[in-house]
Amino acid sequence: MTGHAERAARFAADEPRAHWHDQALWFVRLKRDRMAAAVPEWEALRERAAAVKAHARARLADYLEQFEREATRRGLRVHWARDADEHNAIVHRILSERGVTRVVKSKSMLTEECHLNPYLAARGIEVVDTDLGERIVQLAGEPPSHIVLPAIHKKKEEIGELFHRTLGTAAGASDPTYLTQAARAHLREKFLAAQAGLTGVNFAIAETGGIVVCTNEGNADMGTHLPPLHVACMGVEKIVPRLADLSVFLRLLARSATGQPVTTYTTHFHAPRPGGELHVVIVDNGRSRLLAEEGFRGALACIRCGACMNTCPVFRRSGGYSYAWTIPGPIGSVLAPGRDPVAHGSLPFASSLCGSCDAVCPVKIPLHDQLLARRREVVRAGGQPLAKRLAMRVGGWVLRHRALYEVAGRLARLALRRLPRALLYGRWNAWGRQRELPAAPAESFRDAWRRTRGDGRG
Ligand code: SF4
Repeated sequence: MTGHAERAARFAADEPRAHWHDQALWFVRLKRDRMAAAVPEWEALRERAAAVKAHARARLADYLEQFEREATRRGLRVHWARDADEHNAIVHRILSERGVTRVVKSKSMLTEECHLNPYLAARGIEVVDTDLGERIVQLAGEPPSHIVLPAIHKKKEEIGELFHRTLGTAAGASDPTYLTQAARAHLREKFLAAQAGLTGVNFAIAETGGIVVCTNEGNADMGTHLPPLHVACMGVEKIVPRLADLSVFLRLLARSATGQPVTTYTTHFHAPRPGGELHVVIVDNGRSRLLAEEGFRGALACIRCGACMNTCPVFRRSGGYSYAWTIPGPIGSVLAPGRDPVAHGSLPFASSLCGSCDAVCPVKIPLHDQLLARRREVVRAGGQPLAKRLAMRVGGWVLRHRALYEVAGRLARLALRRLPRALLYGRWNAWGRQRELPAAPAESFRDAWRRTRGDGRG
């Protein structure tokens, strides 16, 4: 089984792409920093957001039921799904009962998580992703590589070639304005032909029974205002208690995600449009299990802004696909092993534990603590390769025995000085593949301490 390191090595092998990916995300991170610095109450907003999320989590069932009551009163139809299969079956039933075969969808990581597109495609329903980045990866037959910037791994020349092949744009054309206009014309036809619009949900308000969808392209609005049927899919964690709470999250979300003051479109849906239907599918799919995990339930506060990915030195240099899960980056590395500690066992180790993710997270999830805790779980579940388990066992044994540790140190210093370079930098030395090993000192710190103190005590 390949892990994060092997997949990351494949991405990093294309050095220009890895460098450019790193720089592109760092640019977004810097925009986020400027926006955050311009809001004097930024830290108070983060505290408030974390507190609201913690409160909503503590009374999640009450708020979800309140949401259902209020939403139903306003004419929305609420459905409950235990897992991805139920979610997909419910969405399919709603569509097929109304004879829908053409659907436009705006970005929804939940439907990615549930693999809704292939499920519906296999049942004769065409789903067109309408967010530009999502459409690019959909046309390329790839999943998103980032939750906010799904096609960030692609260069404009590659998109030009893809559009030439799939949309018939001019060969060799890679001008972003030209390509965007081509996508716009192509998507307009899809919008006009759609019989239903699918969206995600950024926030669901228990107090009002309404949902809020944030986009920058207006595609969710277009997709839900042309056809008569709107199906919105949300994870249980999207609930916020009051309308007033929304202002806290809306100020944090776009600033953290892309360094904008607010998303270009923030659309409130509080009733179906006249003559239309609005269905909300509320999905658990492992979230209540996470809620029961004391050390990790805070991860449910995530508002999917992507800031932890943009800042993470590992994500920036290894790309979203190296995580092999719907949500990549630090938050994905906390969530995925909760589902399967063996299959996703390498992810918590894809971190330098520098804490940069904690520093930018708008809802103050202690990501690096959680990553460390996940590492412990993965080790306990036997999710580490045999060679690493053995190395750790030997390392632990050496560290527990002072005399052994001193001998090992002497041998290591000797080896660093005497062994030929070809042997020192052989295949076994992953650390030294892109770095120089440090020059071996003549004596250890302990030896130097003994010598300079002159009292013989180590
Ligand atoms: S964990 Fe925090 S920083 Fe990362 S996507 Fe979620 S809210 Fe954003």
